[in-house]
Amino acid sequence: MPPAALNSPAPQDLWQMDHRHSLHPWTNFGSFQREGALVITKGEGCWLWDAEGRRYLDAVGGLWCTNIGLGRREMAQAIAEQAERLAFSNTFVDMANDPSARLAAKLAALAPGDLNRVMFTTGGSTAVDTAVRMVAYVQSCLGQPSKTGIVARDHSYHGSTYLSQSVGKRPGDRVPEFRYKEDGIWHLTPPNPYRRPSGMTETEFRDWLVDEFETLIATVGADRIGGFIAEPIQASGGVIVPPDGYLHAMWQVCQRHGILFIADEVVTAFGRLGHWFASRDLFDVQPDIICTAKGLTSGYIPLGAMIFSDRLWSIMEQDPDRWFTAGFTYSGHPVACAAALKNIEIMEREDLLTNATRMGALFQSRLKRLEDLPLVGQVRGRGLMLCTENVADKATREPLPDGVNESKRISNAAEAMGLMVRPMAHLNVMSPPLTITEDEVDFIATTLEKAIRQVTDELV
Ligand code: PLP
Repeated sequence: MPPAALNSPAPQDLWQMDHRHSLHPWTNFGSFQREGALVITKGEGCWLWDAEGRRYLDAVGGLWCTNIGLGRREMAQAIAEQAERLAFSNTFVDMANDPSARLAAKLAALAPGDLNRVMFTTGGSTAVDTAVRMVAYVQSCLGQPSKTGIVARDHSYHGSTYLSQSVGKRPGDRVPEFRYKEDGIWHLTPPNPYRRPSGMTETEFRDWLVDEFETLIATVGADRIGGFIAEPIQASGGVIVPPDGYLHAMWQVCQRHGILFIADEVVTAFGRLGHWFASRDLFDVQPDIICTAKGLTSGYIPLGAMIFSDRLWSIMEQDPDRWFTAGFTYSGHPVACAAALKNIEIMEREDLLTNATRMGALFQSRLKRLEDLPLVGQVRGRGLMLCTENVADKATREPLPDGVNESKRISNAAEAMGLMVRPMAHLNVMSPPLTITEDEVDFIATTLEKAIRQVTDELV
């Protein structure tokens, strides 16, 4: 059944309202002016409907987030019940509420090792922001007040607040009008095997990346570097799956130099890679801090969390007169926490992690075949994270000129065929819900292939 909510304005009116009054995240003014936005009015499972009643398979999964799929009545009920019983109560200083207490305990049980402490935030950016500040706080408690710098990687995305965007560094995100924090933040080479220097094996590349980190520490001084932040798989930077052993080796470097390891699992947690958290289960890393959001509530409502170790807690509590002055009005929002608890309950009851593992393997192998197409240089990913990278020349891996806009054209062509994939630079990116079925994987593969072929024909 098509969507339209009762008494909803006509589709064209909705489009106009948005066009005349909204500023969207990452707006490109030219294309927005020409095309405006696609107004979505309903979602169910992996599917979306627009205001005109057209249906799309959302292979983007919202934005890496609709893990349990949309349209679940019991999620709506849990949210409604909590909103009626206790819509809000703050969690500042010495206040808590029952869903925030229960969720903190649940996250402690799911997170690896001694990550038993949780600070709730409003989303991923604010979790990263808080983690970076906690690194400085902990190092200062350890008597190292200058050890506050952060090492990150190029092509990483850690959010859109001033601090989290300064820590991230995706090409194209940095605009000259805006000054980012530069002192005390360093960026290393992204661990992208597809773009490694020619003549290097993957193992040599890994060792070169680890050496680069060691060299930076030697140059800057370990006494100035407090933390290292990494997405286990760089998501928006291009679904970059690092070489085998890379993250573990980087973690060992951190341990040698007293550098805290922040795993940005905003995307990779809650089943996207078939595990609650990817750091330890897939990459053999025990982080000091995990930042998460997105799949924590499957996008039903905003929530983020910074999960950190008992060790850090015990360091911070040694001085009872100090204050950790960070937090947000909606940290531990009871309705958001109730949604997260129900979301996790559904994942456990339906064993969605197992489905994600099974479907993830199928998704990867089925889409890998697109590498046979002349435009596609590489299909890469893991689990239910995947991208296709378009190139001008498969042998040299040379990208297409920027003006060609082929990934946007592929997304547009796919959209016209009822499939949503996300265009980013020369990539088309996907992260469907964990509930995806074999038929839906097949639909993605065949439709995307048609869309790529269509755009390729237009280009010659
Ligand atoms: N970290 C990563 C790895 C992300 O992909 C994102 C968002 O895409 C963020 C942080 C920021 O999260 P949010 O948009 O919820 O603030």
